[in-house]
This record gives sequence, C-alpha cells and structure tokens, in this order.
Amino acid sequence: MKEMSIGVFTSVGAGLGASLDFVKELALDNVQLHTPPPEARSPERTQELKKQFEDADIAITVVFAGFAGESYASIPVVKDTVGLVPAKTRKARLKETFEISDWTRAMGCDALGMHIGFIPEDTKNRVHKELVKVARDVCDYCADNGQRFHLETGQETADGLLAFIEDVGRDNLAVNFDPANMILYGTGEPLPALRKIGSFVKSVHCKDAKWSDDPGVAWGTEMPLGEGEVDIPLFIFTLKEIGYLGPLTIEREVPGEQQKTDIRNAVELLRTLR
Ligand code: MG
Repeated sequence: MKEMSIGVFTSVGAGLGASLDFVKELALDNVQLHTPPPEARSPERTQELKKQFEDADIAITVVFAGFAGESYASIPVVKDTVGLVPAKTRKARLKETFEISDWTRAMGCDALGMHIGFIPEDTKNRVHKELVKVARDVCDYCADNGQRFHLETGQETADGLLAFIEDVGRDNLAVNFDPANMILYGTGEPLPALRKIGSFVKSVHCKDAKWSDDPGVAWGTEMPLGEGEVDIPLFIFTLKEIGYLGPLTIEREVPGEQQKTDIRNAVELLRTLR
C-alpha cells in the first residue's frame, strides 16, 4: 500500500459503514471493517468474506469491534452502553473481544480497534483502574494474535488518553485518531490533541464535525469532510508533521445516497490534500 493511501470505513451486516461494492466502485485499495454480528462470523462465512476482499485486492487495515446493545443516541446513552466500560456487559463483551481478535486474525488483519467507552480520567477512580486491567488483557490477547489494539479517540481528552495509555503500559496499544469525535463529544480541539498523541497514532478516521452549543452535553453535528470545524487541510498537514503516513480512512456515518455522495467528495478532497 502506498503512503497515505485513501480508504473508507466499511461494514458488512452491522454498523454504518460503506458497502464493499461501493468501495470497489471507488477503486480504493484499503478499508477498515466493522465487525459483523456473531452469526456472520462462522468459519465458512469468514472465509467467504475474506475471499471477497482478496479478490477485490482490498486490504483490511483495522477491524473495529462493535457489540449488540451499543447505542450512540446521545452522549449519556453512549456512557451507559458503549464499549468495555459498562459493568453489566463487561465480562461478556471482553470474551467477545477475544473472539473478535481471533476473527480479525482469520481475516488477515493485524489491528483491532474499539471505542472502549468513557473512562473516568481520575487515575485513582475504581473504574479507571478496572479498565486499565481490561485494556491490558485485550492488548495481551491481541499480541498473541500478532495484533495492535487501537483506541478510538473522542470520549476523553488528549491528556486523559495519554495517561491511560501510560497506565496500561503495553507496546501494542495504539490510537485510531478521529478528529471529528473530539468535536462531537466536546473533548477538545482536535489538532493540538493530535500533536500530543502523535507517536501513538497508527490509524485515523477522516471525518468532520461542528461543535454543539453545549459541548460535552449535547452532540455536535457530523459534517461532510471539509465542511466542518476540524480544518481538514491542516489535519492532513499535521499528520505529515507527526510522521503519520498510514491509511487515510474516510468515515461518514449517514445512510444511503448521502453517504455515497459525501464519500466520493471526500476521496477527491483527500487526493488534492495529501
Ligand atoms: Mg471514528
């Protein structure tokens, strides 16, 4: 794959990603893939899917874990339902995370990504300590599968994320930097955050957004790439500045024709910028 190769976030059966057919139409050579639901991860279905990507010459750069019961309806609902933070589902989801890591390996991919959830930033907080252990367990499982574990940004500040990474202390822990999420969740200006987290960034989402009137309480608004408040030209410039030359994965979380139009435009924008 070339440096700063343009890719797109895709999904098969679950999630709001683009379809494989659309990626083929765009003639892109790489994607991130949202994990299909458990019933679609049988060995036969897995081999079938792997072959579809291989036949199309499309590399899967990160598999993103997702779980039944997660909801992004509002910021408080995200806190209660997303990732490995909610106590009620943690044990079962950790087990499923290991299964997804195995699935990721079966798909020939060396990185597992996830929104781990809202981790309290106070390092003495009980949930923070529990999540450090959970993240270590995931990292160690991924390491045995020859993988990195990528934390999706947005639900914490840059400083909070750095402190967490340091506490976990695993070499295969990395960051999937999504600049729009920092605006959507109201956790900080994305580009200064990118400079801080720089060396841990191993994948990115090219996504844009506008701040809400009540950051951190109400969602900001996701926008077509280049039309929000990230400053996409400066985002690409900053990626080069920190030495990131990996895939530029477009993520556009709206359904239907709007998604296709916006992704086509995003590909064109990134071609001119990179
Ligand atoms: Mg994202």
